[in-house]
Amino acid sequence: MIEIRDIGKKYAMGGTTVHALRGVSLTINDGEFVAIMGPSGSGKSTLMHILGLLDTPDTGEYLLDGRPVSRLTEDELAVLRRDTVGFVFQQFNLLSRMSAAENVALPLLYSRRGMSAGKGVEFLEKVGIADRAGHTPAELSGGQQQRVAIARALVNAPKIIFADEPTGNLDSASEKEIMELLRSLNRQGITVVVVTHEEEIGRQAGRIIRMRDGIVQQDDAAATVADVVPVPSKESKTTRSGSGGTLAEYFEHFRQGFRTLLANKVRTALSMLGILIGVAAVVAMLALGTGAQKAIEAQIASLGSNLLVLRSGSMRMGGVRMESGASTRLTMEDAAAIGQKIKSVKETSPAVTGRGQAGFQNKNWNTSIFGVMPSYARMHSAVPPVGRFFTVEENSRRQRVAVIGMRIVRELFGDRNPIGEMIKIRKINFMVIGILPEKGANSFHDQDDLVVIPLLTAMYRVLGKNYVDYIDIEIEQAEDMEAAQDSTMEIMLSRHRIPPSLQQDAFTIRNMADIQNAVSASGRIMSLLLASIAAISLLVGGIGIMNIMLVSVTERTREIGLRKAIGARRADVMAQFLSEAVVVSVFGGVTGIILGWLITVVMSALAGWATSVSLGAVTLAFVFSALVGVVFGIYPARKAARLNPIVALRYE
Ligand code: ADP
Repeated sequence: MIEIRDIGKKYAMGGTTVHALRGVSLTINDGEFVAIMGPSGSGKSTLMHILGLLDTPDTGEYLLDGRPVSRLTEDELAVLRRDTVGFVFQQFNLLSRMSAAENVALPLLYSRRGMSAGKGVEFLEKVGIADRAGHTPAELSGGQQQRVAIARALVNAPKIIFADEPTGNLDSASEKEIMELLRSLNRQGITVVVVTHEEEIGRQAGRIIRMRDGIVQQDDAAATVADVVPVPSKESKTTRSGSGGTLAEYFEHFRQGFRTLLANKVRTALSMLGILIGVAAVVAMLALGTGAQKAIEAQIASLGSNLLVLRSGSMRMGGVRMESGASTRLTMEDAAAIGQKIKSVKETSPAVTGRGQAGFQNKNWNTSIFGVMPSYARMHSAVPPVGRFFTVEENSRRQRVAVIGMRIVRELFGDRNPIGEMIKIRKINFMVIGILPEKGANSFHDQDDLVVIPLLTAMYRVLGKNYVDYIDIEIEQAEDMEAAQDSTMEIMLSRHRIPPSLQQDAFTIRNMADIQNAVSASGRIMSLLLASIAAISLLVGGIGIMNIMLVSVTERTREIGLRKAIGARRADVMAQFLSEAVVVSVFGGVTGIILGWLITVVMSALAGWATSVSLGAVTLAFVFSALVGVVFGIYPARKAARLNPIVALRYE
């Protein structure tokens, strides 16, 4: 039973206040069929919205079945609406993307009874159009659409149906059918309240309430309270009102979100783009970054670790004899002295370098010539996989044997086996005795473009030097590197009697460990840079999603109003729009992961890096994109959830 006392409602419009209702009191008994009539602007709709729990009055009392409801919160009203009333609108308000059956079943989503199209068909049968269950609203006539709307109003077994000009958009034949349907529902015990302009319709109701200027002008309440068939005690309703939905509900939200997005393919694709690029960047950059880092580290390791490289000083005075008689030219004796005097030194290896032509038959190739000690092979991980390195013996006898890099093999020999062949180095005959292990090339230096020959052969037969260019000093323990570096410098300065004024630049000692550290530090900076680029693109992507969601909320204002009218609480609307945002971003994220992986595969094939997309990177990207969806979906979803149902329903 509905009982209202002295209900008032006013609207502020511009500067003036419009009194839509000024003290309306009436009682509607269970099982009545009431028509609310009156001229436009007389307050009919306002009254119906209050009676239908879509709106609350400013003043007065509303008792629904004896329970005061005029001060309930929006969500409490939503729950009550969902369980007690059904709405039928002039514009039908069906959701165009859904089939008739799904439209009918929609309120079940909010009453937690599981939205199933089967239930929808069942109710469509009750209004006589079960054969149209699979059609979308656009494929139905006005009368059929209104039947679908009535079935939707019935699906939660309401006590009262409110119909706002239900036949206003229909031809007279359909009008008859709809009114007959409403009357039959009334006969089954459902209270029906119709707002209408038409006297003809009013006459079909058992009671007419005439409004004028916000008050009840006439109410033939005396009229029959139709032979009330008591409302069949409804099967116990699961009126759960707590928050937190079931898995099935979330699934349904996601399903609907997915369909909405599919309906706007181009728009969805565009809004996904930001996330997609961001995630692809994260995945690819993490993979390539680690790949590049590993490649660089491997190249440095191949130069030898625990290695100090001693050279004579700066270019300005490199290798020249100074007036004082001091010299910065390195000698083999220097190497021997360092090896003897510093305990932590494992081995020293002097070397000379130069450039020159290497020739075989009619082919020539300009390359680097290294004259080294046999220990070079071990210190630089250069033990030949094919053939052998030269011996101490061969060095001291200044023999003409050469170990050549893969580049030389390719340039001079092609597919032939070079071992045992005679090549010319600076026009001097050498026998190839081994091939150096392949170390690869980077953009500025090919590590395989060299020939390695015995140090003494190089000094006295090929390059004509009686000094060495640098000395590799291998240190036993990494932690002794720095001390050894200092001791080496001391020994060198004293051996060469360098005056204090020139000591600064006399010798340089390169520490491989330092270089390694520098490289990993720059690697970290690179990763940080890449990560921030990725973060920015994800941010931009998120803003894109927010933007599109805001458009979507505005576009679907009426839909939101309708969903609220049939019982959706704020949390339900929120969940719906959040799901959509998450679907977009996760879909973008997954596509991004695939794209990032493809980029990685292509790039690593081109760069020759052993990259791999790590599970960690993929998980990170996925979680991040889902998070972006949630974070940037919250604002639009809140905006949707906070829409006033009536304002939303009236939105054009
Ligand atoms: P009816 O349904 O009889 O045409 P309404 O209940 O819609 O009348 O409106 C009653 C009065 O309240 C009208 O003067 C209308 O302009 C005003 N009104 C209704 N809704 C609003 C609103 N949301 N904001 C401002 N004025 C409103």
